[in-house]
Amino acid sequence: MAYPKEITDRAFDILASRRNLARNDYQHRQRVIAQQAPAVETLRRELTGTSAAIAKAILSGQEVEEKLNRLQEGNLYMQQRKRELLVAAGLPENYDEMAFTCADCNDTGYTPDGKRCHCLQTLLAELMLERLSKTANTTNITFSSFVLDYYPTEKLPGLNRSPRELMQQALAECKLYAQQFAPGARSLFFQGPTGLGKTHLSLAIASEVIRRGYNVLYTPVQALLDTLERERFRRGEETFSLDFVLDCDLLILDDLGSEFSTSFSTAAIYNIINSRLIEQKPTIISSNLSIKEIESRYSPRVLSRLVGSYSTIPFRGNDIRLIKKVPIRPCVPD
Ligand SMILES: [Zn+2]
Repeated sequence: MAYPKEITDRAFDILASRRNLARNDYQHRQRVIAQQAPAVETLRRELTGTSAAIAKAILSGQEVEEKLNRLQEGNLYMQQRKRELLVAAGLPENYDEMAFTCADCNDTGYTPDGKRCHCLQTLLAELMLERLSKTANTTNITFSSFVLDYYPTEKLPGLNRSPRELMQQALAECKLYAQQFAPGARSLFFQGPTGLGKTHLSLAIASEVIRRGYNVLYTPVQALLDTLERERFRRGEETFSLDFVLDCDLLILDDLGSEFSTSFSTAAIYNIINSRLIEQKPTIISSNLSIKEIESRYSPRVLSRLVGSYSTIPFRGNDIRLIKKVPIRPCVPD
């Protein structure tokens, strides 16, 4: 799964600096050993000699077994002796070995069988989360910090359910979606007025899916269009390319309908939604607009794709941002 170039570049820079650190630390250790346990250095040279002799014995093919056993015994004895000498000098027994941050890949990012190492995967996820936090305030934005108490318990007219019940279900669905996310997952459409937690749940999904090792692009629609417009005219620094918008494992488009509408924006949005649907790449779109408003604003083509291919999650209730602004007054009797 491809990550944006600036993310992989940074990850490999970090790995390179870890290798440098290990090398510098190793040189420092060698100097300490030369001072405090010089016999270790002699043993190390002998060990290199026996290792070469073992390799030669294997290649010669003569009296191999007996010779090998003798050499290997000697090798083990010398290794044991070396550990004893280090400990006697007050040093850890493996002090003469290079200490990489990740022993599974020696800080190269790839295991000996050519697979991406867990340390590189973690690094990529951390950098993606860092980038996400630059796009949106992700502090304390998790599924557990989503407060259902803000949603009314009175049943909605024409619907035998309250906003709280609806949101309880939305929260559970989003959580499950993030936990089970895999390529080919469903696309979601978060529909409802401003201030009902659409961005909160979008970001909670983004963080969780990134942590699970997928590349996710979260972006308000207007910011995406601004970047694509800049890219079109090749101006300024790109924060992401259209390729990544189309190829990322999960694209989250926040606040569709709030953007400045032009023929470019309408065409760009349609192309992104359409291309990702064809490639079976999941997208999450949130919007204050109703389906009818989307129809009149974009085109029936966009509408039919949204309605036909996305699972709609309705957000209902009173604007939480306004509720939070009302100060809690102490109850004073008249
Ligand atoms: Zn590693």
